[in-house]
Amino acid sequence: MTTAPGPCESGVPTLRVRDLSVCFAAGHRWVWANRDVSFDVLPGEIVALVGESGSGKTTVLNAIIGLLHGEPGAVSGAIELNGRSIWPDPRRYVRSFDKGHPVEIVKDTMGWDAAHRRLVKPVLGRQIGMVFQEPVYSLDPRMTIARQFEELLLRHAPETMQNGAGKLVHETLAMVELDSGEIAGKMPSQLSGGECQRVSLAMAVILRPSLLLCDEPTTAVDVEVRAQLHRLLERYAHEEGCGVLLVSHHWPEVRRLADRVVVMNRGQVVEWIGRDRLASAAVHDLHPITGIWRDGDMSLMVAGESSGNHHPRTNTACCPLAVTCGPASAQPREFAVRCSTGLVPKFEVRDDQRTRCWLFEKNPRGD
Ligand code: SF4
Repeated sequence: MTTAPGPCESGVPTLRVRDLSVCFAAGHRWVWANRDVSFDVLPGEIVALVGESGSGKTTVLNAIIGLLHGEPGAVSGAIELNGRSIWPDPRRYVRSFDKGHPVEIVKDTMGWDAAHRRLVKPVLGRQIGMVFQEPVYSLDPRMTIARQFEELLLRHAPETMQNGAGKLVHETLAMVELDSGEIAGKMPSQLSGGECQRVSLAMAVILRPSLLLCDEPTTAVDVEVRAQLHRLLERYAHEEGCGVLLVSHHWPEVRRLADRVVVMNRGQVVEWIGRDRLASAAVHDLHPITGIWRDGDMSLMVAGESSGNHHPRTNTACCPLAVTCGPASAQPREFAVRCSTGLVPKFEVRDDQRTRCWLFEKNPRGD
């Protein structure tokens, strides 16, 4: 690479998300999109964020890139990029308790939203790169590939254009195994889907961001291109030393690529699985939801949904399986009551595995 405007910084997590909660008003009630979400992405590692549709993964991504549409009614927690906050302090905006709801409400939501964008804008493109499921979100169908790179560099790093950006573009396209001489003058419609996705990846990493957010980048490509993208993501993380947050629905992909896995459901993280546990022959997931997600059997989740997963009066979160959980129903009644009347605490089961399930309170290793 010719320049490194966004060098990786070491010693601190590339991305640190702590106790992130985001709540939106829906009529007369509050709907939690995220509740106490915490995880880190370290330099050089790939962290997979998994869970079924509607589990809150997209809200986490949007919170990181400053795109929380709909003016959140309540926000709390912290998001740091290389040790610097990119999440405004809600305490700077007037807030109050809404009677009947134990929710701290940001009164000046527009002010908070503007502050969020101000913090995130300077790092987007330079320190945070994004690859979407469909390359159409990154590529403009009206411009040649070369022109799209120029626009990107003019917007995020105009200094790279002083001596022409040809060499930088050429090297970056070579990194994703594309020949700039062949494709630079083409329109996106003249490229295959796999080539378009590799161009999107090249655009995301051209400024060597320290964090790469990948939102299901291999869902819309064939098996061959998927394998190629896997190699590129591994190379970018492990050789370039940058953190990758990968949203995926594909367990084999997660198993192959991820150094750590964060399992989400109904806005909560229900399990954290570390690299040693992932590498073992049997993963031994702890929370039933992890198994449900991995095996693709969503019938339990549908039944759970009809029960509601927040207390209707206090809006307090509970375990998403509170009503349908077999292990809970085999326990004394007081046990099941705890599952349905509050956010389940995190239990450290092993060094590299934590879960939000009461079953592991007294049986911490899950043996
Ligand atoms: S917290 Fe309770 S309901 Fe939830 S998975 Fe564990 S035992 Fe089942």
